[in-house]
Amino acid sequence: MFADRVLSGMRPTGALHLGHYHGVLKNWVELQHQFECLFFVADWHALTTHYDTPEVIEKHVWDMVIDWLAAGVDPAQATLFIQSRVPAHAELHLLLSMITPLGWLERVPSYKDQQEKLSERELSTYGFLGYPLLQSADILIYRATRVPVGEDQAPHIEFTREIARRFNHIYGKEAGFREKAEAAIKKLGSKKSRVYRELRNRYQEHGDQQALAAAKSLLDEQQNVSLGDQERLFGYLEGGGKMILSEPEVMLTLASKMPGLDGQKMSKSYNNTISLREDPASVIKKIRTMPTDPARVRRSDPGDPAKCPLWQFHLVYSSEETKRWAQEGCVSAGIGCLDCKQPVIDAILAEQKPMHERARMYEEDPSLVRNIIADGCEKADRLAQETMRDVREAMGLDYS
Ligand code: SF4
Repeated sequence: MFADRVLSGMRPTGALHLGHYHGVLKNWVELQHQFECLFFVADWHALTTHYDTPEVIEKHVWDMVIDWLAAGVDPAQATLFIQSRVPAHAELHLLLSMITPLGWLERVPSYKDQQEKLSERELSTYGFLGYPLLQSADILIYRATRVPVGEDQAPHIEFTREIARRFNHIYGKEAGFREKAEAAIKKLGSKKSRVYRELRNRYQEHGDQQALAAAKSLLDEQQNVSLGDQERLFGYLEGGGKMILSEPEVMLTLASKMPGLDGQKMSKSYNNTISLREDPASVIKKIRTMPTDPARVRRSDPGDPAKCPLWQFHLVYSSEETKRWAQEGCVSAGIGCLDCKQPVIDAILAEQKPMHERARMYEEDPSLVRNIIADGCEKADRLAQETMRDVREAMGLDYS
């Protein structure tokens, strides 16, 4: 099978804030140590909703990459690139659009949802309808095996799997497939060929899933067969054709619990954010002036943390001991709200300190960021072209 590879992207439609850090970037930083990771700036995706404000996108692309680096995403571990710098995404999107039934796109749950949510924008566009397919192209072009998404995005990954299956079904039947697969079996060597055939029979005749898994891991370990032969053997195993596009798996990520300054979810549209690299003085001011339980008019009035937006920050940042101190001090009026806010301020500033430090050299020398992205785009393009060669050939577009 294809190498384990994670793909994730972010739209450059505004400055990143602590909600992005806790919801996405912390996860990326962990994933980059476990898997081959590709992280991209989804600028074409941003255009599907912000096509009439391109200046917003332009403004945020580079800043967003600095935010990623500040958060600890490491270009030595992960590949960082910009979607529009790898034009093969658009080519695959176009080619996949030839086989995508319109009804499949109209059925994607977020289509109607987003149109309603973003009702101030005119989104009855071809680009907006097709954005899940663009997302599929982003994933399939790298043969990504895992895609970290929240629950709301899981249907998009299922859609991508359906597209991959449909593509493989239509184009995976190359001429002389059976003969080529049989020849590939011989290349495994006599012992492994025999094991492969036995496992294949057990799966195809008895539906034995263990045999299927064993045969797949046998193929995974093969070094001496070409990628093309390996794909044929995977396809032959399950009774299908050649597997050209691989089906990704969902890596479910928990929704961020990061609260905003007003107690709602932290979001740019609610204007309640603390940006990732916000100036410390501004962080202090925002927390000190944020609302608390309205019952605490005077210092001597007791309060209830459950009615206080600041308490949500304690839940994210504070130790059990600090939470107990805040809880008891609040209900007994033993502490004032400014006292209660201080540990939260300290924790946010401590979290942001290494981010400011990491960001500094990129802010001072933007060419460093451009070079990281140039390298990432080059690598991404190379990987994309490997898939596109197979796709073009399968669709009869290889005229060499
Ligand atoms: S003491 Fe703390 S939890 Fe209670 S109202 Fe004030 S800020 Fe909120």
